[in-house]
Amino acid sequence: MMRERLYLYDTTLRDGAQTNGVDFTLNDKLAIAKMLDDLGIDYIEGGYPGANPIDTDLFAQDRQLGATLTAFGMTRRPGRSTSNDSGLAALLEAKSDGICFVAKSWDYHVRVALETSPEENLASIRDSVRAAKSRGREVMLDCEHFFDGYKANPQFALACAKTAYEEGARWVVLCDTNGGALPHEVEKVVAEVVKLIPGDYVGIHAHNDTEQAVANSLAAVRAGARQIQGTLNGLGERCGNANLVSIIPTLKLKSEFSERFDIGVSEMQLKKLKHLSHILDEMLNRAPNRHAPYVGESAFATKAGIHASAIMKEPATYEHVAPETIGNRRKLLVSDQAGRSNVLAELERIGIGVQKDDERVNRLLDEVKQREAMGYAYEAADASFELLARRLLGRVPSYFDVEKFDVSVEQRENAVGRRVTVSLAVVKVKVDDEILISAAEGNGPVNALDLALRKDLGKYQRYIEGLKLVDYRVRILNGGTEAVTRVLIESEDEMGERWTTVGVSPNIIDASFQALMDSIVFKLVRSGA
Ligand SMILES: [Zn+2]
Repeated sequence: MMRERLYLYDTTLRDGAQTNGVDFTLNDKLAIAKMLDDLGIDYIEGGYPGANPIDTDLFAQDRQLGATLTAFGMTRRPGRSTSNDSGLAALLEAKSDGICFVAKSWDYHVRVALETSPEENLASIRDSVRAAKSRGREVMLDCEHFFDGYKANPQFALACAKTAYEEGARWVVLCDTNGGALPHEVEKVVAEVVKLIPGDYVGIHAHNDTEQAVANSLAAVRAGARQIQGTLNGLGERCGNANLVSIIPTLKLKSEFSERFDIGVSEMQLKKLKHLSHILDEMLNRAPNRHAPYVGESAFATKAGIHASAIMKEPATYEHVAPETIGNRRKLLVSDQAGRSNVLAELERIGIGVQKDDERVNRLLDEVKQREAMGYAYEAADASFELLARRLLGRVPSYFDVEKFDVSVEQRENAVGRRVTVSLAVVKVKVDDEILISAAEGNGPVNALDLALRKDLGKYQRYIEGLKLVDYRVRILNGGTEAVTRVLIESEDEMGERWTTVGVSPNIIDASFQALMDSIVFKLVRSGA
């Protein structure tokens, strides 16, 4: 079979920027554009020049991108000429490689929102595409509300698409703007469109309001569309856009697509996908979705013992693709439901060699079960599990002792008479025969304790310089007066490596202290201190 090329068009920087709580700076946009380019994306929609200063600046930058950087904006306004429309002028003046126009394709919108005639809408598409072409740009047209428009008035919706194609647009993109279309509808409508416009001029832009943006994109490809628009991690207004982080591995790894289509993303680039997805969350200060398909922490995690023993024999028994292909990894969760297989597999992954019938494996498993009954959660705290295992096998040096700590919380008036709450921690640490006392103020007691603990560890200090706490989660277990607190702390080092530790106690400071200690000790073990 002849292989065909599918093109990926990323709109994280434009449609993705519509996400509630997402605000990209110019530097964020430049960094994300670089990431997308490194991934092998064909088109990067940078934004809406003229609409806001950051987007205008973005296109003014010198850049070295392999991808086609595209500016987004509206077709000329009804009743105006192309030379007398300031929005269109800003778009044409932007230093972009491509221009993606958005135009109405639903007659109802033309009438009600635009208050113009169908003929004028078509003329606006024609004039705008022509103007951008004459400036030497690669031109695309987003047909807004195409699927709803097609249901209401197929002739008009098709006329909008066809006008752009006939005027020389490289892509005519069918948009499911309100995200309500279903895969079988998309497949049917796209099949009609490609009778008039060749499929390798047709794109799909799906929103996720029925959680089928990925499915709709794939349905469009099945029907003949050859460009897919989407965003990283499915960012976008309301429920988001089609998630390229799910679409890309599907195209690369599922034979129905991989045997027919090439995309710009190589196997090597695919391996960076998990990392890239997490870096974006990091930039946005969001916790990564653990259950994200392909790239989530839990995407290849197996908890039940019976599944785990099968996975160890033959991973394909429970995995739909190999986790390494997208830079993820298999996780056999260690928990009270786990069997020896999970524990053995986890020890092997960590690099602790034990015999299969080693008695200590049973002891470790018993210890895990007992501690989980107390509230520890090792499946979420891989670093604490590793320390537990290494301690049981006698392989964790006692680097330092915390002889005592003192944490105080004080509310008082500050110099300008405003009431403030200040936390102070003092920690007394013994390293060999040296006593080190550190104090730190923090924006809360745990923060103060964390800062004081990491302030001076004597000869070990250099190993923990790059350590930082990136997430702190507290859960109250059992409820009532008997309640115990579980604290999970996620840490990161200078290499971007992350690990999670756990602490449990009736006292939240004590639980936090345990998790902080585990985090520091884990880092020292990892650094070979
Ligand atoms: Zn959109």
